[in-house]
Amino acid sequence: MSKNMPNDTRSPYDPDNIFAKILRGEIPCKEIYADDYALCFHDVNPQAPVHALVIPRNAYRSFSDFTTDASNEEICGFFRAVKQSVQLLNLEEDGYRLLANHGEHAGQEVDHFHVHICGGGSLGKLINKNNSSS
Ligand code: 5GP
Repeated sequence: MSKNMPNDTRSPYDPDNIFAKILRGEIPCKEIYADDYALCFHDVNPQAPVHALVIPRNAYRSFSDFTTDASNEEICGFFRAVKQSVQLLNLEEDGYRLLANHGEHAGQEVDHFHVHICGGGSLGKLINKNNSSS
C-alpha cells in the first residue's frame, strides 16, 4: 500500500475503486497487455479512435504517489508496459499521446494511477481552452 505524501490532503487509496476491481477480476475489461507490473485495457468511454489505459498492479492513487512510493523496478516495469501497449496498438508510426491526470484541476475521476494512451487519428492541441478557466 502506498503512503501519503507530505502535504497530501487527499484521502487514502480506496481499494474498492473501479480499477482495483478490474485488477482483481471483479469487473471485466478489454485487455490489451498484461505483465507483472501493469495491465492495459481499452477505455470504456473512448475520447479518441484508440484510447487505452495502463494501470500499475499495486495501489497508487496517481502519478505523484506512484513516483514517490514505488520502487525503481516497478516504475521502470510500468513504463515499459506502456511502451509494449503502444506497440501492440500499432501507434508507433503515426503517433500517440500519453496523459496522466492528478487531482481536481486535472479532472481525475478514478483514484488509481493510470496513463491514458490516445491515438488512431489527429488529436488536436493538448489543452482545450474552451474548458479552461482564465
Ligand atoms: P481520469 O479522468 O481519472 O484520468 O480517467 C478515468 C478513465 O477511466 C476515463 O477515461 C473513463 O472513461 C475510464 N473508465 C471509468 N470506468 C471504467 C471502467 O469501468 N472500465 C474501463 N475500461 N474504463 C473506465
